[in-house]
Amino acid sequence: MARVTGKIVKSHCNQCVGIRDHTVLLSRDVMDDSRDEKGRLIISFIDRYDFLTCCGCGHYSLRQSTWLDVTSRKKPKGDPAFVKHYPPAVSRRRPDWLDAAEYYEAIPDDLRDILDEIYSALHSHLTRLAASGIRTAIDMIMVEKISDVGDFGKKLSEFERMEYISKKQHEVLSIVINAGSASAHRGFNPSSEVLSMLMDVLEGIVASVYIHPIQAEMVKKKTPLRAKK
Ligand SMILES: [Zn+2]
Repeated sequence: MARVTGKIVKSHCNQCVGIRDHTVLLSRDVMDDSRDEKGRLIISFIDRYDFLTCCGCGHYSLRQSTWLDVTSRKKPKGDPAFVKHYPPAVSRRRPDWLDAAEYYEAIPDDLRDILDEIYSALHSHLTRLAASGIRTAIDMIMVEKISDVGDFGKKLSEFERMEYISKKQHEVLSIVINAGSASAHRGFNPSSEVLSMLMDVLEGIVASVYIHPIQAEMVKKKTPLRAKK
């Protein structure tokens, strides 16, 4: 039987993106063990399933904590050996515009698909896949806007000439594309700080190319005209 508890614990919240106080709504311990072919005990463990709600934002999640080498007579003590979160703990929140209905049509379907794959890779700590996905996404944006004019260098120059990006952004995108290529071809494993910077650049480009023009139109419609003198 699951226990109804009102206990407060620290746990990761995907909505707040960080460790927050959570109320344990329900908790259940499941005991199990692994045995060899003769039935001798190899290891016993307890899985504790906690159904949590974040005290800050109310988001719900399930946390599985595993303690090893415990017997059914003992309550688990100390920190668990493993902790898993369902859905998996995210290190980066998707920007609100990505899932907002008013911008849904603005982002091409194939770009939306690769963005979804990048966030899934980030949430699963697949850093090389995420970095090479970022490079692919930037390539897709350029090809969609200026067509396939050659290698990355030529595309970036054309992208700048068509005023989608500034000279400074051109330099930054070259660095991001290089990091993505190094992950795809040379096994470069970027740190979470580097990956976060690559994501800042990608989200910035998607927003400036697809989202900001729509937002600017909305602002224009709502801005009162200047009275004629
Ligand atoms: Zn929260």
